[in-house]
Amino acid sequence: MAVKVDSVDGNPKTNPETKRVLVRAERNDELKITTVVSNFEDINVPDFVKVVQRLMTYYGPKLRVEADDEQYLVTAPGPDTQALLWRQEDSAWHKAAEIRLDFTGSLPEYDICPDCGETLSTIAHERRAAIGACEK
Ligand SMILES: [Zn+2]
Repeated sequence: MAVKVDSVDGNPKTNPETKRVLVRAERNDELKITTVVSNFEDINVPDFVKVVQRLMTYYGPKLRVEADDEQYLVTAPGPDTQALLWRQEDSAWHKAAEIRLDFTGSLPEYDICPDCGETLSTIAHERRAAIGACEK
């Protein structure tokens, strides 16, 4: 179970590691929950989660993650908060905790497309981005 802290060193902004995870995490990446800022539902927040799916929404990236056969969602509500961890119950998502995350291993090798904000995981996408022609 990840360690809970009472305050986030006086800085309410999303920390750089968490931001990097939200921008760059892809399917199968292993993530570590480094800090539990708030535990709204008093759940056992897992130490590590694995990315199942990356979703791009109007409001920004959203990660479907899993740990110990439990499914969770990680969202980034805004620049002034840490990431939110949602857990599923009765086919609804419940806001369970506010967390900080980091990659467990080395950073993913892909860069981010400046146009659409997604990772440049294909050569075609990389080429389009290089000439400013991404149409996503
Ligand atoms: Zn793109």
